This record gives sequence, C-alpha cells and structure tokens, in this order.
Amino acid sequence: MRINRALRLGVGAAALALAAATTAACGGGESKSALDHAKDGKLTVGIKFDQPGLGLRNKDGSFSGFDVEVAKYVGNKLGVKTENITFKESPSAQRETLIENGQVDYIVATYSISDKRKEKVDFAGPYYVAGQSLLVRADNTDITGPDNLKGKKVCSVKGSTPAGNIEKNFPDTQLQTNDTYSLCLEGLRAGSWDAVSTDDIILAGYAAQSTGAFKVVGKPFTTENYGIGLKKGDKDLRTKVNDAIEEMIKDGSWKKAFDSTVGQSGYQAPQPPTVNRY
Ligand code: GLU
Repeated sequence: MRINRALRLGVGAAALALAAATTAACGGGESKSALDHAKDGKLTVGIKFDQPGLGLRNKDGSFSGFDVEVAKYVGNKLGVKTENITFKESPSAQRETLIENGQVDYIVATYSISDKRKEKVDFAGPYYVAGQSLLVRADNTDITGPDNLKGKKVCSVKGSTPAGNIEKNFPDTQLQTNDTYSLCLEGLRAGSWDAVSTDDIILAGYAAQSTGAFKVVGKPFTTENYGIGLKKGDKDLRTKVNDAIEEMIKDGSWKKAFDSTVGQSGYQAPQPPTVNRY
C-alpha cells in the first residue's frame, strides 16, 4: 500500500515535470531560434545602453556605438534590415539569462568570452580585444595602476569579469559592485570610491565624456576577448555570425565602424582579432 502510494506520487511528479518542461519549451512561441527570427525578418539584440562609444541609447531614443554597429552588420548579414532590429538593454549580470531564456537573439555588449560563461552560452568572435583598466578622478595622484589598489575602494559591475578579477586577485581592495557602470561613475564623481574598474575601451569613453573630470590610469592588466553571445549549442548560428564578423573585418566595415564611434574620442583602432572557430 505504502509502496503503491509512493509509486503513484512518483508518476504524478514525473508527469508534472514533463508538463512544465513542455510549457517552457513551447511557451509564448519562444522555442524559435535566432535564425528562425531572422527568417521572419526580425531580430532582438542585446546591447549596453550606457556605454558611450560602444553601446549607448541616445536622448532621442536612437542607438550608437561600436557594439551597435557590429550588431547591425551581423543582423544585416543574417538577412534582417536595420529598422527591424530591436535593441534590448543587457546589463552585465543578466546576459547569460537573457540568452538562455530566448529574450534576445544575440548579445553584442562588451561581453568577454570566458569558460565560466561558456557553460551557459556560446560565443562567436572575438571581434575585439580589450583589457581591464582603472578610471580615477582627474586630480588623483596615488592610483597609477593595479599595484596601488591596496586599501582603496573600487567600483565595478555585478557579474562582470573585472569585478570577478578584483574579488579574486586583489583581496586588499574594497570592491563595491553596482548594476551598471553609470552608477559607478556617479559614485566616483561624488567621492564615494577611489576608482572604477572595467575594460580600457569602456573607461576611455567615460573619460572622453567627462570633460576633464576623470582619467584612465595605468596599462590594461587583463585580456578581454569580446564575443557575440549566442544560445548554447546553436552551431549554425555561430558559424553564420563568425562569417559575418570575418566579413566585417575584411571589407573595411569594422575599421569604419570603430573610427566613427570609439575613434571619435581619439582612440586609435588596434589590429582586429582573428575569429576563433572552436
Ligand atoms: N568585458 C567585461 C565583461 O564582459 C566587462 C565589461 C562589461 O561588464 O560589459 O564582464
């Protein structure tokens, strides 16, 4: 009797689990892949909204930046017109979830390729190589690089690789994390912390916009390979996006996009990287 009841319960639980899984897979039509969406002529792409030169939502609602240009180029290569690409804000800590849940078709958002992230998502690229650096107030003289961070308060963003690096490798530094870099900047301006740390190219954009309030110090001290985040296991998509990145580099659009965005603040375009077809 007891065994029977347990069995019945077991079967019931399995049926429930199956129903839940089916609903998740079919719910809201979100089982469609990015390439299905492209075939339908529409794409949703994750970018940053607050990173000048890279991914920025302008006051008039338009979007600009190098990541935006890469996102558009790839979308166009997948057969989707620019006006049919919807941009969705993708804060650092939410990127894997947005991809896993099918809320975006791909993400171009200063997104470093890492083994930890690869457990949940795949990456095309890299399309750019950055490095972690430091931003301080212009009158700061005691922080000149990662060697002077002992006892300092440093702000970075939740779920970002620079925050992870400080937490792990700079135990004497007080790490403060926020959801976005713009919140870190406000605190830097107000004197709540001594430095903001993330990739050099992001910080250069903030320094350029700060009209002399902030400066980037020291040399980059990590390697951040920017990839385009994709649904895990979608090999067809990864091949097509890698093709698009290679073409963007080869036909001169990559350099043109860089010069018209990040390059505007005097940042020189480096050599583009080689796509890694893992
Ligand atoms: N590239 C780093 C990362 O993917 C920092 C930039 C960011 O938070 O978007 O975590």
